[in-house]
Amino acid sequence: MHGLMMDTQLSVQLILERAKQFFPKKEVITRQANGNHRYTYADFYQRVLRLASLLQQLGIKPGDRVGTFAWNNYRHLELYFAIPCIGAVLHTINIRLAADQLTYIINHAEDQALFFDPSLAPLVKQFAPHLETVKNFIVMDEIPIEELNAQSYEKLISEQPTDFVLPKITDENMAAGLCYTSGTTGHPKGVLYSHRSIYLHSMAICMADMMGLCERDRTFPVVPMFHANAWGYPFASALVGATQVFPNHFMQPRDIIQLIEQEKVTVTAGVPTIWLGIMALLEHENFNLENLRLIVIGGSAVPVSMIEYFQKRYNIPVVQAWGMTETSPLGSIALVKSNLLSLSDEEQMSYRVKQGIPAACVQIRAVDDDGKEIEWNGEARGELQVRGPWVAKSYFNTTERAEAFCDGWFSTGDVVAIDPEGYIAIVDRTKDLIKSGGEWISSVDLEIALLSHPKIQEAAVIAVPHEKWVERPLACVVPKPAYSEQFDKEEVINYLKSKFAPWWIPNAVEVIKEIPKTSVGKFDKKRLRIMYQDFQWPVG
Ligand code: ADP
Repeated sequence: MHGLMMDTQLSVQLILERAKQFFPKKEVITRQANGNHRYTYADFYQRVLRLASLLQQLGIKPGDRVGTFAWNNYRHLELYFAIPCIGAVLHTINIRLAADQLTYIINHAEDQALFFDPSLAPLVKQFAPHLETVKNFIVMDEIPIEELNAQSYEKLISEQPTDFVLPKITDENMAAGLCYTSGTTGHPKGVLYSHRSIYLHSMAICMADMMGLCERDRTFPVVPMFHANAWGYPFASALVGATQVFPNHFMQPRDIIQLIEQEKVTVTAGVPTIWLGIMALLEHENFNLENLRLIVIGGSAVPVSMIEYFQKRYNIPVVQAWGMTETSPLGSIALVKSNLLSLSDEEQMSYRVKQGIPAACVQIRAVDDDGKEIEWNGEARGELQVRGPWVAKSYFNTTERAEAFCDGWFSTGDVVAIDPEGYIAIVDRTKDLIKSGGEWISSVDLEIALLSHPKIQEAAVIAVPHEKWVERPLACVVPKPAYSEQFDKEEVINYLKSKFAPWWIPNAVEVIKEIPKTSVGKFDKKRLRIMYQDFQWPVG
């Protein structure tokens, strides 16, 4: 039987209207050099309408891509809503990429207009001459930039009416957003999000057993708005009427933690490297974090020491989430189910360091090299596949890696074990696994152990070619400043020996100043592998 329920089309517009209608007094706060900028959802709504009107005036049509090249701030939030609300596609562009990658991405997306923060103008100048489709450059500021022929955002929207009527979004499956993966292999690939996927993903984040975002929250995504929609926080926060706090370009650990303190942030989210920096700062300085009720960490494996640090020192739970640009990004989250709460702290921790159980609507399975589904016994390993209403069905306008989408499942490239409780544990990314004498060694397991060592600040383990074993693990570590002078590699090796089988132990430890980071702030193991491709193993 059909037609049992109304066919309300889920859309970003519904989120916007709800924020304005029911939470008009709630605030959006952005850090600025001269004090924090703050306004209400009511003010925000007026500006979104002006912006939507401007977009139409610029000739942006439904389906057109519009690029944003910006930090996390209120103008970026306005674009997050105005672009999809006229039926166009919000293309968030990674500001940490090099000019030639940016040229490729913007041309491939065929962006019709580009909105950028004034502080990023020097980079825009490098790639602007190579752009083939962008007709309008708009600088997110009061002052235009003549050299780039970029008009002022503020001036343009001030000329627009506030009674603009948004066109109706009649099909929830229309594209609303576009985000490119960071392209660790091949070209960066685009993932299109629909109005429906954004709406459902927002609801999922707000479920109590996920991140439980709610009206009382003051959310602060440290994760950039160009990285998988800041993990969905801007949309989900507006849906529930939460106060939103944005750091703008003030992204040093002290800036972040001060903003959390000042604005009484309750929920924040980011990759582990951010929190490593913050933990180093908290060793020496005190901040009041009493309002923080949840820190969501994902994007890379979370070390035990990080979970324990915030729990024991500040009584703040750290929850690990797993996801990808291709999964909007929420795939799974490591909540501890109540039947596991009777276990010892140590046993519970063994679940919290896993990547968790899938979000509602997301289904999982893992398959071995022969394409056979693995058993969920916590031991068998296979590549994780996922499906669900906010998982991509294909990459945008390319046949590259089309094989990742097969039988209605998306192959993630993550090797996992799944336990009988349904918890996923990422063993490694397929490309980061270390193949030693026909056996796999998990770089992730070694890294999370190293990062829990009291003298280590950063750590990454990579495969380096080896004559006898094909590949062997090399550990690259950055000592904490207090130990940089007298760092004992042997102590680190002995520490690992107490935790892993002998053949897992890295053949060498390299002490370095910094581990290179990717454009989304993760340890860049691809670059490390290139740096150490000719590494000579110590003899013996
Ligand atoms: P990038 O490829 O730049 O890292 P994504 O953010 O889309 O871009 O990365 C997704 C990948 O990040 C996943 O496939 C997985 O390998 C890794 N990842 C994400 N969350 C976690 C996590 N909690 N633990 C371990 N790895 C994770």
